Amino acid sequence: MHATQAYSATSATSPLAPATIPRREPTDRDIQIEILYCGVCHSDLHFARNEWGFTQYPAVPGHEIVGRVTRVGPAVTRFQVGDLAGVGCLVDADLSCPHCQKGLEQFSPTSVMTYGSMDKHLNLPTYGGYSEDIVVDEHFVLKIPSNLDLAAVAPLLCAGITTYSPLRHWKVGPGQKVGVVGLGGLGHMAVKFARAFGAEVIVFTTSPSKRDDALRLGAHQVVVSTDPAEMARHAGTFDFILDCVSADHDLNTYLGMLGVDGNLTLVGAPEKPLPVASFSLIMGRKSLSGSLIGGLAETQEMLDFCGEHGITSDIEMIRMDQINEAYERMLRSDVKYRFVIDMATLKGA
Ligand code: NAP
Ligand code: ZN
Repeated sequence: MHATQAYSATSATSPLAPATIPRREPTDRDIQIEILYCGVCHSDLHFARNEWGFTQYPAVPGHEIVGRVTRVGPAVTRFQVGDLAGVGCLVDADLSCPHCQKGLEQFSPTSVMTYGSMDKHLNLPTYGGYSEDIVVDEHFVLKIPSNLDLAAVAPLLCAGITTYSPLRHWKVGPGQKVGVVGLGGLGHMAVKFARAFGAEVIVFTTSPSKRDDALRLGAHQVVVSTDPAEMARHAGTFDFILDCVSADHDLNTYLGMLGVDGNLTLVGAPEKPLPVASFSLIMGRKSLSGSLIGGLAETQEMLDFCGEHGITSDIEMIRMDQINEAYERMLRSDVKYRFVIDMATLKGA
C-alpha cells in the first residue's frame, strides 16, 4: 500500500479539501498511472453530496482519468511505463460472468466502480481520480489516440462513452431525427456523436444563451424548452431522444416529442424519481429506457472513433482548488462544456 494525495469530501455538506488516501501496490495484472487530467462529471457532485444515498466518506470523486503509466505488473501485456492511459468509471469485475463475456462489464454483479465501490484487494473503498495516481487492472485501462489533446480526451472516459453507447445501441444514423436534452458535459458529446453518425440533431436546452454553441457543436436546430410554442412545433416527430439532464424535469414533455415507436433513453440520473404518465407511452407505442456508461471494448471503440474523426470534449481547465466553485457553476448549468482538472495543481493544494 502507498499513500496518495487526493481531494475528498468528508460529508454531504462539506466542501472538497486535500486528503491522503491509500492505494494498493500494483499486482501482477495492475497498472499504476500518474494522473495528469481528470474531468468533472455531474455524477461526481451527486456522489460527493450523497444525492444517490450510497456515499461513504471520505469520498474522492473523479472517473474521467488520463495520465501516464508509471509502473506495470509482470503479467501486463498492453502497456509499458511511459505510455498514455485512460481510466473511466469501471476498475474491476470478474470478467467471466455472462455480462463480462459480452463486453458489458458495467452490468456485472461484481463490477467495481472507480469510486464508491470496494477495492477487493485492499477491502477498502475505491477512490476516484481527484488524486495523484491510481492503480487499475490492465483490462480496465484504455489506450488514448495520439492525435488528440490529452486534457480534452479525459471527458470521453465517461461523458463520451455514456452518450456513444446508447446512440450506437439504438442505431442512430442517417434519416433519423434525434433529440438531445440538456447541453452539459454529456449533452454536448451526444450532439457531436449523433451528428457524426449522420442523424438530424435537435438540442433541447433551458439556456437560450447556449443556442449558438449548440449549432457550432453540430446541432441542426435548437429548441428552448421553456418556450411552449417552440416545443409544440416538434411534438410527435422524433425517432430517438437522449435525456442528459441532471435535475428534476418533466419526462412526459419529452415523451410527447417522440413519434410512433420512438424511444427516449435516460442517461441523466437526477436525485429524485421522475413521474411518467402511462398515456405518455401507450399513445404511440413509445419506449422509455436507460443506459449506463459502456463496456471496455466499446469504450476503446469510442476512443478510436474520436481519434479517427478528431472528436474531443470542449473543456474549461481548472485548478484542483477551484473544484468547489466548479460544482456550484455546474449546478447553475454554467459549464462550457466540461471542467477538467489540471492534476499538476494538486501538488501543494
Ligand atoms: P452537466 O454538465 O451538469 O449537464 C446537465 C445539463 O442538464 C445542464 O447543463 C442543463 O442543460 C440541464 N439541466 C440542468 N438542470 C436542469 C433542470 N432543472 N431542468 C432541465 N434541464 C436542466 O451534467 P453531466 O455531467 O452532463 O451529467 C448529466 C447527468 O447524467 C447527471 O445526472 C449525471 O449523474 C448523469 N450521468 C449518467 C451516466 C450514466 O452512465 N447513465 C454517466 C455519467 C453521468 P441546459 O442548460 O442545456 O438546459
Ligand atoms: Zn461520469
